[in-house]
Amino acid sequence: MALAPALFLDRDGNLIEDHHHTCEVHQITPIPGAKAALEACLQAGYRLFILTNQSGINRGKFTWSQYHACNRRMLELLALPTPGILEIKAAPERPDEPSVYRKPSPQFIWEMIAKYQLDPARCWMIGDRITDWDAGKNAGIHSCAVRSGAGRPEDFAYAESQGFTIRADFPDFVRLDLGLKF
Ligand SMILES: [Mg+2]
Repeated sequence: MALAPALFLDRDGNLIEDHHHTCEVHQITPIPGAKAALEACLQAGYRLFILTNQSGINRGKFTWSQYHACNRRMLELLALPTPGILEIKAAPERPDEPSVYRKPSPQFIWEMIAKYQLDPARCWMIGDRITDWDAGKNAGIHSCAVRSGAGRPEDFAYAESQGFTIRADFPDFVRLDLGLKF
């Protein structure tokens, strides 16, 4: 069986607007064009995963229950056709805590590559922060930096120095780098 292409998607600032520790259901607003872009990716055979750092949980800013409610709202608004997003992994640890999955850890990406027989050469990690891009780099897949979230000018200077792809937002990436029309 041929290995499948896949996208590892950051949530806040990539699929939905970043409100800095987004934790209220009413804050959930998809990035314009994200739904159509995701549908085009599914149509083209990309397996979709979400990998999100949610240190607000261990910082005591919000609960797992609030986090899950936000995901449900996001999925409801995106209303993707089957199979949609295959798995969502959240790392609740703060940056100073040990963590298996917190980005830039490549662990989740490696596990999904093995579990779903993915082709690393056709896998991307897309997000708005250095931790996203470095997770892709550490996993040995491609990284795309999007300007739709919390990235600062110095972060994009780093992205450029690392040779990461830089795009305005996720839909822009899908059009320009995956070559999909939607
Ligand atoms: Mg983000």
